[in-house]
Amino acid sequence: MNIEKKSSSENGGESNRDLQARLQKELAELESLRDDAQGWTAPVELDQQSVGRVSRIDALQMQAMSQSMQRRREIRLAQLGMALKRFEDGEFGICLECGEPILAARLNIDPAFARCVRCEK
Ligand SMILES: [Zn+2]
Repeated sequence: MNIEKKSSSENGGESNRDLQARLQKELAELESLRDDAQGWTAPVELDQQSVGRVSRIDALQMQAMSQSMQRRREIRLAQLGMALKRFEDGEFGICLECGEPILAARLNIDPAFARCVRCEK
């Protein structure tokens, strides 16, 4: 008996829910990656005796790379968290700087955008 199911789609609510789902999915993926990364940045120290100098440098480079990826992930996680919070507050899709609506096409590229094209520059 759910005939009125689509009643909220008229003001774009449906597609916003889509974007919210995308944000939640990406957040969950990043958080599972974060758990993995903690598992494999630690062992580098232990490998030092068993591997040669070159592989050790490789390992350190890998570690540095993984750390910078981790940093970028943290930033991304924060962006996603803020975007999801804006959903809760009913402010999603509104530019943080000027208060104007952010173009749907822009949010489709990245639902975590917090600013319109003009304010991003
Ligand atoms: Zn703006």
